[in-house]
Amino acid sequence: MFTIKQDAESLAARSAKIKAQALAEGFHKVGIAQAVSLDEERAHLEEWLRRGFHGEMNWMARDRESLLRRTDPRLILPDARAVVSVALNYYTPREHADDPTQGKISRYAWGDDYHDVLGAKLKRLLLWIKEQWTEAEGKVCVDAQPAMDKAWAVRAGLGWVGKHSNLITREYGSWVFLGELVLNLDLEYDTETIEDHCGTCTLCLEACPTDAITEARVVDSTRCISYATIELRQDELPARVAANQQGWLYGCDICQDVCPWNRFEQPTTETAFEPRLDETSLPLLKVLELTLDEHAARFRRSPVKRAKLHGLQRNATALLTRASGNKDSAGKGKN
Ligand code: SF4
Repeated sequence: MFTIKQDAESLAARSAKIKAQALAEGFHKVGIAQAVSLDEERAHLEEWLRRGFHGEMNWMARDRESLLRRTDPRLILPDARAVVSVALNYYTPREHADDPTQGKISRYAWGDDYHDVLGAKLKRLLLWIKEQWTEAEGKVCVDAQPAMDKAWAVRAGLGWVGKHSNLITREYGSWVFLGELVLNLDLEYDTETIEDHCGTCTLCLEACPTDAITEARVVDSTRCISYATIELRQDELPARVAANQQGWLYGCDICQDVCPWNRFEQPTTETAFEPRLDETSLPLLKVLELTLDEHAARFRRSPVKRAKLHGLQRNATALLTRASGNKDSAGKGKN
C-alpha cells in the first residue's frame, strides 16, 4: 500500500515540477495527456482529407504511414507515455493599418517564426527534464503533426476547438501557438477537458468572406484566404479568394477577430512576437519591387517567408488589381 501511495504522489510531484518548469520557460499554459493513439481524431482527419479540404497540402495525405505517425506518439517515440502540451500567447496589442495601399499580415506572422521560438523553449524544457530524471527520453513537436496540436491541447485540458477550428483558451482566446513534448515518463494526466464554450455563437461562420467554414469545426482550405495566400503554389489566387481578399496579403484573421472569446486577449510576455520593423501590414507597391535578396533578408526567420516572394507578389497583385477595378467601377458609376 505504501509503495502505491508513494508512486502516486511522486507522479503528481513530478508532473507538477514539469509544469512549473514549462511556465518558468515562458509558456502560458501547460497540460499533460496520456500518449495514446488519437483514433477518433485520425478518423476526422481522414474524412477531411477524403473530402479534399487540404487542397494542395499533399504532404498531409502522403501515405497511411505518415498519417499514423502524426496521430500516434508511440510511432515517434516507441516507449512514449505522456504528451506535455504547451500554449504560448502571441497577442500583441497592435492593429493593422487602415490603408488600402497596404496588405495585411496575419497576427501570428508579425514577429519571429514561432517554430524557432517554441522549439527552443521545448528543447530547453526537455534538457531540464533529462537532467532531473536520467531515464527520460523525449521528442519535441512543433507543427510536426499540424492537425494534432489541437487534439493534444484539448486532451491536456488547455482549451476547446472553436467553430473556426482553432483552439480557444479561456485566458488568451485563440491567439496561442501550440507545441508538444512526447516523453517516456509516466506522469499524472490531466483528464479534465474544458467543455466547448462556443454555444450557439456562429459569428466566425458568418464572418468568413469565402464561406470556407463549411460547418462547425470544418474548414475547406481550398476556399480559405489563409491557405490560398500562404500555402497555395499557383500563379493566380482562386477567383473566390481574389474577389473576397479584404486586404489580406498574408494569412487572414477574420474568423478569429470576430470571436467573442478573443476579448480575453492579453498582451504576450514574449518579445519575439512583437511586429518586426513595427509592421503589421506591408505597402503593396513595395512588395512588388522586392528582389529575391531583399525578400530573403527581410523575412529571414519570419513566418512570412513561407509564401515565398512569388506568392507574396501574387497576393499583392491580386489586391492591387481588385483596388484598381473598384476605382474604375466607382468612376463609371459617377458618369
Ligand atoms: S481564415 Fe479567413 S478565409 Fe479562412 S476560414 Fe477564417 S475567415 Fe474564412
